[in-house]
Amino acid sequence: MFTTEHDMRAEGTWHEATQTVTDTICPYCGVGCQLSLHVQDNEIVKVTSPSDHSVTHGNLCIKGRFGFQHVQNH
Ligand code: SF4
Repeated sequence: MFTTEHDMRAEGTWHEATQTVTDTICPYCGVGCQLSLHVQDNEIVKVTSPSDHSVTHGNLCIKGRFGFQHVQNH
């Protein structure tokens, strides 16, 4: 299991002020959703999508939202 924001907040290890956000395009299929990767201590701790994006409107499928966390933990 990867660590979630909820778990990190519960543990007291969620430090939003130290996180950086990098925008990229999801590589998992051809829809081309925009992803915002939230990084803390060189780990992707959350993936979101800008709510004003014309394709995703803030929504991502399960691959886009969780795929990066699975990748870096294997
Ligand atoms: S978030 Fe899902 S629908 Fe969007 S590009 Fe990635 S895999 Fe495709």
